[in-house]
Amino acid sequence: MNVPLLDLSGQYQTMKKEILAEIDAICDSQRFILGPKVEKLETELAEYCHTPYAVGLSSGSDALLVALMAEQIGPGDEVIAPTFTFFATAGAIARVGAKIVFADIDPVTFNIDPEDVARKVTPKTKAIIPVHLFGQCADMDAINEVAGAHKLIVIEDACQSIGAEYKGRRAGSMGDYGAFSFFPSKNLGCFGDGGALSMTDEAKYKMVKIYRNHGQSNTYIHDYVGGNFRLDALQAAILSIKLRYLDGWTAARQRNAMEYRELFRGEGLTGEIKLPEEASYPVRHIYNQFCIRIEGGRRDALKAYLQENGVGCAVYYPLSLHLQPCFKAFGGKPGDCPVSEKISGEILALPIYPESTSSMREYTVAKISAFLKK
Ligand SMILES: *Cc1c(COP(=O)(O)O)cnc(C)c1O
Repeated sequence: MNVPLLDLSGQYQTMKKEILAEIDAICDSQRFILGPKVEKLETELAEYCHTPYAVGLSSGSDALLVALMAEQIGPGDEVIAPTFTFFATAGAIARVGAKIVFADIDPVTFNIDPEDVARKVTPKTKAIIPVHLFGQCADMDAINEVAGAHKLIVIEDACQSIGAEYKGRRAGSMGDYGAFSFFPSKNLGCFGDGGALSMTDEAKYKMVKIYRNHGQSNTYIHDYVGGNFRLDALQAAILSIKLRYLDGWTAARQRNAMEYRELFRGEGLTGEIKLPEEASYPVRHIYNQFCIRIEGGRRDALKAYLQENGVGCAVYYPLSLHLQPCFKAFGGKPGDCPVSEKISGEILALPIYPESTSSMREYTVAKISAFLKK
């Protein structure tokens, strides 16, 4: 049996006609950059994310970058981010010339540990970037409390968590900004690169729109050095269509996660295999990833065994960011963030995409069982 980690082709077939009709109409109009399709998507995204404003951008990485640029964060400033996340979270901080201060994570949710954040605030700290990793929100009340006490900007990295909730509040609506990615493998993906930034404050909204288009406040008058961070009409139109299906896909991912739990329990594997846990606070977990853990240095062998048997799986993330070669200058060393360092050696993502089938999950769990009995 072949079980891909992700396969978007089935999902595309269900909306192919709608999407091709939109693409056709946009090609006829020859209006490709920003314009009414992007504005329509921005309104829909703001509504979906329970925020007053959203701005369509070129990628999730650029969304993080633009938020930092719009806040004039740069050399001499410090920004706190988790060490266990996709590279882009920290990359954005380095790109504006600020110092990345890496915080360790909570072992249950894999999200930034608010107590470690509080310990790492200095007079130079300007912002915190909590990441809602794998589809589950970070402990935003605790993070906002630290931010409030020190007047720090909070940029939620919601690139894996569109529609996720924390105590009933949506990802991207709890900080000053929320960054979203529409990379094809995200829960809401477009047909290329795309992203967005949400915000609650009107002045920040206006500033982000200026930065999106080369810092241009009036035609050919540039008050700031921004960049080309624009979303295009084709991607926006595709996203508007796909957004209508998102809650259905989320429900399917949640069902798939529940089914995995039953299967692992049924096989009696929950001692050796640690299943992803939901936080102690109320969440809507949207399962961008379903990551199990296996201790005792057996993760890479399990991964190889599953791949040999046709099961797609992947390691997010094998090396904590404070140990990345390009961030050497920030002084990170082994032992600085012990929880992240341990988990990065144990974690393994299994297929969870909405269209994956029960028999795929049965096969996957059976193969994990066979590996453990070897
Ligand atoms: C995907 C992702 C990004 C970057 O998004 P792109 O659209 O690929 O630039 C940033 N942060 C996290 C946590 C992500 O998963």
